[in-house]
Parts: sequence; C-alpha cells; structure tokens
Amino acid sequence: MCIFCKIVNGEIPNNTVHESDHFLAFHDLYPKAPIHILIIPKQHVDCFQDVSPEMMADMTPFIQEVATKVGIDKTGYRLITNNGDDGGQEIKHLHFHMLGGGKLIWNHQ
Ligand code: C5P
Repeated sequence: MCIFCKIVNGEIPNNTVHESDHFLAFHDLYPKAPIHILIIPKQHVDCFQDVSPEMMADMTPFIQEVATKVGIDKTGYRLITNNGDDGGQEIKHLHFHMLGGGKLIWNHQ
C-alpha cells in the first residue's frame, strides 16, 4: 500500500487541513513555502495522467475550499502536480501541492 493510502486509512498520522468523503488535504511534512498543503483523492490514482474527468470535477471545489479555509483564496497560491518520473513525482498517488502564504518565486526547474 502506498504512503498516501496509509495516511488515508490512518496508519500514518497527518496534519489535516480539510476532509470530505472523497478527498483529504494535509500539511506537507517538508514545506517549500509558508503554506504547503497536499491535496489527494482518498481513492488511489497513480498520477494526474490517470485521473478521470469526473474525479477532477469533484476535486476542483474541494481544492478551492482548502484555499478559502487557510485564507489564501484572495491573496493567491500555486497549484502543482508532479506527474511521473520526469515531472519529479516521488509518491505515486495523485496529489496537488498548494503553495502560498507569501510571494512565490517562479523557477521552471
Ligand atoms: O510531488 P512529489 O511526489 O515529489 O511530492 C511528495 C510530497 O510529499 C513532498 O513534498 C514531501 O515533502 C511530501 N511528503 C509528506 N509526508 C510524507 C512523505 C512525503 O508530506 N510522509
């Protein structure tokens, strides 16, 4: 079972920000911005390339709720998903990184 599935089933603790029946948002253990949240589907999907349009449609308002909940919906944030090896995806369970809480530097690397 992958590490994020273990977080979903409670085997590994997490610092939850927001939760619904289908999605979970929690603080990244190694934050790369003042606010760094990971947003995942509870159902295992390997990566963005495999996600269904239906799941993305459900996930979109959940992601927006997370931003509102932590107070960065108006100030702005960056939403990133690393897809596959060249994309730098280390954990093969779909996740979006929500980064914010300050002006972010854009670095294509
Ligand atoms: O996109 P990528 O797969 O590289 O991102 C994985 C993210 O999961 C990293 O930002 C890492 O800090 C985070 N992580 C975590 N808790 C863990 C393992 C990894 O927040 N137990």
